Amino acid sequence: MVDLVTQYQAIKNEVDTAISSVIEKAQFINGPEVAAFQKEMEDYMKVKHVIPCANGTDALQIALMALGLKPGDEVITPSFTYVATTEVIALLGLKPVFVEVDKDTFCIDVNQIEAAITPKTKAIVPVHLYGQAAEMDVIMEIAKKHNLFVVEDNAQATGCDYYHSNGSVSKTGTIGNIGCTSFFPSKNLGCYGDGGALFTNDDELAQQIRMIANHGQSKRYYHDVVGCNSRLDSIQAAVLRIKLRKLDEYNNNRRAVADYYDNFFAKYEQIKTPIRGAKSKHIFHQYTLQLEGIDRDQLNAFLAERDVPSMIYYPVPAHRQKMFSAFGSEATNLPITDWLTDRVISLPIHTEMKEEQLKQICESIAAFIEKNE
Ligand SMILES: *Cc1c(COP(=O)(O)O)cnc(C)c1O
Repeated sequence: MVDLVTQYQAIKNEVDTAISSVIEKAQFINGPEVAAFQKEMEDYMKVKHVIPCANGTDALQIALMALGLKPGDEVITPSFTYVATTEVIALLGLKPVFVEVDKDTFCIDVNQIEAAITPKTKAIVPVHLYGQAAEMDVIMEIAKKHNLFVVEDNAQATGCDYYHSNGSVSKTGTIGNIGCTSFFPSKNLGCYGDGGALFTNDDELAQQIRMIANHGQSKRYYHDVVGCNSRLDSIQAAVLRIKLRKLDEYNNNRRAVADYYDNFFAKYEQIKTPIRGAKSKHIFHQYTLQLEGIDRDQLNAFLAERDVPSMIYYPVPAHRQKMFSAFGSEATNLPITDWLTDRVISLPIHTEMKEEQLKQICESIAAFIEKNE
């Protein structure tokens, strides 16, 4: 699905030098590389504060901790997402309230948020799924009206531009009270291990987040709140500094892959290619098709036989996970989410794809369709 080896070969000299330098100086934790990455990421994101942490799941957990939510408080989130988004809500004793997604963008359906709000609702966690933004202007308006916090799960959309209705542009992850991302190796901006970060323009929240990520420490050995230990390694920061400079180019390469697929599949009415909404510039963390009249699981197996990778993101939505059965979430009526769960399939997409590979993938899918006609 990704080719991180070829990507590394192209930046090997820079990366090897940067990693050796960290090791030679033995500045493994909180060294100058972390501070430099933080500053460069703040400039790239055009956000006041970037707080690096250990992974994207921690970022989401720390964000919800920083908002001071109380057990039993409700958090609205899509069910159609990676488990990390919803898991941290339950982990903190909060109640996940699952809302439907939009069939075209795969992101939370903003028309269904207000119906899910109760007096206990405290926050909305939209997910910019597959690299395209949720409708942030509408979400922020709803949040303002009902006095709710917004935490963006930006793990799949680092580098995505959101176009506000007033004409201004923001990076996704910098619009809500807090944004969270992951630097897991296969993400659009990935390191060579685990990593993550939080984004905020709010000075007080930034201070609270830094404290929570560092054992709740306000000054050395003085711990004001219950926190955790969540740090970005210096070696990962050194890698991220190099890859951040290439992020826009990497995202453009992904868009070119998406263009190729779009053109090829245009003639197949059984295949719905990803819709590129007008509200943001899709960065294609995933290229995800919706199939109608083709058996998704059979296609998946057919491609596997031919050594063509494909993945189902995600085969089980949150409201159908055992993890959440205590919340009675199974009874939630989310027909679009269930519909998508049975019909989506994601194809290989990465920064180093060759036309030859694309051709082979597309022709394999065409062969499957012909065989079944
Ligand atoms: C990857 C991902 C996360 C979690 O990030 P980790 O760094 O793996 O903890 C959270 N949410 C979404 C949508 C993701 O894709």
